Amino acid sequence: LFISFEGIDGSGKSTQARLLQEHLQKAGHEPVLTREPGGSPGAEEIRALVLNGAVDRWSPETELLLFTAARRDHLERTIRPALAAGRIVICDRFADSTRMYQGLRGDGLRAQVDALHDLMIRQEPDLTLLIDMEAGAGLARAVQRGGEGRFEAFGADLQVAMRQGFLALADEFPSRFRVIDGARDIADVAVDVRAIVAERLA
Ligand code: C5P
Repeated sequence: LFISFEGIDGSGKSTQARLLQEHLQKAGHEPVLTREPGGSPGAEEIRALVLNGAVDRWSPETELLLFTAARRDHLERTIRPALAAGRIVICDRFADSTRMYQGLRGDGLRAQVDALHDLMIRQEPDLTLLIDMEAGAGLARAVQRGGEGRFEAFGADLQVAMRQGFLALADEFPSRFRVIDGARDIADVAVDVRAIVAERLA
């Protein structure tokens, strides 16, 4: 079972991914918790390149190629081997993040994102949990937390567009997406996550 978490910066998806891993471990599974960009040694190097540099260091097109290269390595080295071994993979962001973050940049690169995905990735999660919340609330949390995020560079308008974009993706891929209200206590959100995953494992 391949599960991805998606959402805007500050939505709490990383916390929920970690809580799900802990829960599944207690239940006797051996889940693999991984993340994008990154998740394999090579992809983590690309993550450092992309996230530590200035936002305009590369064009949006070049950046899309770097994210796609990172995903390909992550798939080959981490995700596919784990799935082949029968393990549950929990991924903090996957291709849907590229459909949004890279797809909404420049003059709109979604067609290029989709073409590269078909050429080099061709893998979707079985289940995508969208931790949804209002863009302003997510941005406030992300800025407060600091760290390596690029949320400030993206700006508030793009965050609003991304929130709407993620909800539109959920409509585009209804069989694998589940939308969870992330504007609640961490524990309440985690209860919903566990219930949806339990349903899939039954
Ligand atoms: O999810 P996480 O906080 O680790 O993401 C790190 C940063 O990378 C965030 O600021 C996010 O907006 C950005 N990102 C991106 N394109 C992606 C995935 C993440 O620009 N495909």
